[in-house]
Amino acid sequence: MSDFQFTRNARARPEPSQLFGASNPANLIARLKAELDAKETLLREQAAALAHNRKIFERSSAAARIGVWECGLPDETLRWTDVVYDMFDLPQGAPLDRKQIVRCYSEASARELEIRRSRAIETRSGFSLDAEIITPNGVRRWLRLTATVECEHGIPVRIFGMKQDITEEKILLDRTRYLAEFDLMTGLANRSRFQQRLSELCESRSALGAMLLVDLDGFKKVNDTLGHARGDECLKETAGRLQATCHDAELVARVGGDEFAVLLGSPVDTRSIENLAGNIVKALSIPVDHGDEVLMLGASVGVAIFNGCTPSELFRKADTALYASKAAGRNTFRIFDAGVEMRRRK
Ligand code: GH3
Ligand code: MG
Repeated sequence: MSDFQFTRNARARPEPSQLFGASNPANLIARLKAELDAKETLLREQAAALAHNRKIFERSSAAARIGVWECGLPDETLRWTDVVYDMFDLPQGAPLDRKQIVRCYSEASARELEIRRSRAIETRSGFSLDAEIITPNGVRRWLRLTATVECEHGIPVRIFGMKQDITEEKILLDRTRYLAEFDLMTGLANRSRFQQRLSELCESRSALGAMLLVDLDGFKKVNDTLGHARGDECLKETAGRLQATCHDAELVARVGGDEFAVLLGSPVDTRSIENLAGNIVKALSIPVDHGDEVLMLGASVGVAIFNGCTPSELFRKADTALYASKAAGRNTFRIFDAGVEMRRRK
């Protein structure tokens, strides 16, 4: 008999104590109870660990304003964690109807959401999207959605992911972008945005528009006699009048102290440009009513037509035409012509 066989046979034989225990009900019960107690302790420990992890997850999820969502397919049963309910101003645990929830999204966001979701299900992939919602309480929020499609045997069975409240981040980003691109005092585009748009227009070969430079006449005197605050009021008034006069323009910008620029992006004939430049001169020569006093303002305009030149060449041409308007006595416009000949209309 080999060692192996011996060992195996020895193991197959029950221990005397086991035989005795099994035949004694009291011992068997005690042993089973001990096993049960041990399992109960283990379960309690696991439940405590689970509760702890859940608490950590919920706290960090609330702090980061990130919630988890899942939607069964194809029946569209929706499930959310509490943070998502809070984002939508809905009572935690309330029943969810996906069609109603989609109605909380702004029109553009709902459209984009449905397109990306359908594509992700079709391609068994995922997507991310920054979307705007308006809650039943009328609160606007921006959410960053991530989604992954889960398949079983190649069939999509669930789509799930996270929703993060990015409203504050979005406001900050919009504000930063606004500060970078707009003039705070007048609300018009600033020089940087103007230059960017001008470059884009010059690059697109099809563009046949024009650029008009507008500079107030004798503006220093307003500041000197009535103070800087009154001067600021005049600049705001000028911005409003320019916008109203150039409502079809591609862009109206404040490019310097009392200097403004208008970009016409689409092809325009000379007569239309002359009309617009004349209307600007007229609009800005209407006295500004300050209640206790009436201010006489005026502006000179220089025009350059897009003809495939670079942004700096176009600006230089408009500036040359503006200078010619000033030299001609102000409150008028000039159009830069090839051969540096200036044409004048009043
Ligand atoms: P011109 O007829 O030749 O255009 O002369 P002007 O008196 O209008 O003066 P100019 O265009 O050469 O200079 C613009 C002045 O605008 C200079 C400055 O005192 C004033 N200015 C610049 N920025 C601001 C501003 O933000 N607020 C106010 N109130 N004044 C400003
Ligand atoms: Mg001026």
